[in-house]
Amino acid sequence: MSCVNKSVCKICRRENMKLFLKGDRCFTDKCSFERRPYPPGQHGQSRLKFSEFALQLREKQKAKRYYGVLEKQFRRYFAEADRSRGVTGTELLRLLESRLDNVVYTLGYASSRREARVLVKHNHFTLNGTKNNIPSHIVQKGDVIEVREASRQMNKILAGIENVKKREIPGWLEADHANFKGVVKDAPARENVTLAVEENMIVEYYSR
Ligand code: SF4
Repeated sequence: MSCVNKSVCKICRRENMKLFLKGDRCFTDKCSFERRPYPPGQHGQSRLKFSEFALQLREKQKAKRYYGVLEKQFRRYFAEADRSRGVTGTELLRLLESRLDNVVYTLGYASSRREARVLVKHNHFTLNGTKNNIPSHIVQKGDVIEVREASRQMNKILAGIENVKKREIPGWLEADHANFKGVVKDAPARENVTLAVEENMIVEYYSR
């Protein structure tokens, strides 16, 4: 996952919002953003005036970091969204939201997107009955994601199922935790994206 290290909480503080990068901790009062809701660094608490470009850059970085995508890959998603018939910004978010690692996290089989990415890479899931270890795989309507039989008692997966009770599973996905399964009922709509991002600013950033 891109740019995620020990100082992961600084990313939330930099973007001035909770990006839920650390799983369970994000829902406790140990959350760094709850305690220090201002950018890190010496001038973090100063009132800064941002240029139009800086605002566009921040929106792009916010989305990139939320989904844990590298710049090169993010640009590829943008190019694909730009080629599509739909609204570019909405299509971009649809692609990001449809990544297999995001779906695994959203269904509740991991406590964070970062953890979901590792679990997918380590072959703990099947997609339509076949092993799939590609976190960036874009799921389609009707796809069935399952935790592999041998992985069902893993602490991380069980903790993910417990943690998902603290958030809502959007309508485009259906989770069946008793059978360690999830179904993609539809393509994600704009209102299913919980990240507060202005995607039109991302479009403007790449259209300069
Ligand atoms: Fe962000 Fe989670 Fe760290 Fe809070 S605990 S600052 S939401 S990563």
